[in-house]
Amino acid sequence: MDSARFVLDVHLGKLARLLRMTGFDTIYRNDLDDPEIIQIAEEEKRIVLTRDRGILKNKRVERGHFVESTHAKDQLKEIIDVFGLKNSIRFLTRCIACNGTIEEVNKEEIENELKPGTNQYFNEFFRCCDCEKVYWEGSHFNRMMSFYEEMKEELGIN
Ligand SMILES: [Zn+2]
Repeated sequence: MDSARFVLDVHLGKLARLLRMTGFDTIYRNDLDDPEIIQIAEEEKRIVLTRDRGILKNKRVERGHFVESTHAKDQLKEIIDVFGLKNSIRFLTRCIACNGTIEEVNKEEIENELKPGTNQYFNEFFRCCDCEKVYWEGSHFNRMMSFYEEMKEELGIN
């Protein structure tokens, strides 16, 4: 399934970050209530991921999944497995903070936004098209890369 898009309930904030990190279109806000989640799922044809079985009983929810695992990393594996997404992972394409798409940017474009130390030591930068958050090697980037390597190994992705 290439176009898996999700909306998550308030209990799944960590999973939301991991789904975005692996490139899946994921709506999550810690203030979304059930009616809002259902409405978003309906209007945007999104799959509801939830730890609350009640919401899945609503007839307006066409596609949903009760997340069995309790740890975020296991939850991510569960979702990738259940929806067959192993080959749809696109690492570093989506902003962890806002779900916007991120793309590589030239250092010159963002130079004056960087702290001096960052500017001096790093050369590869990505920026969110929506909230303009900048990602660079070092910072979260290294942690994300090692997470990605770990996931690849566990899921058997080349
Ligand atoms: Zn963003």
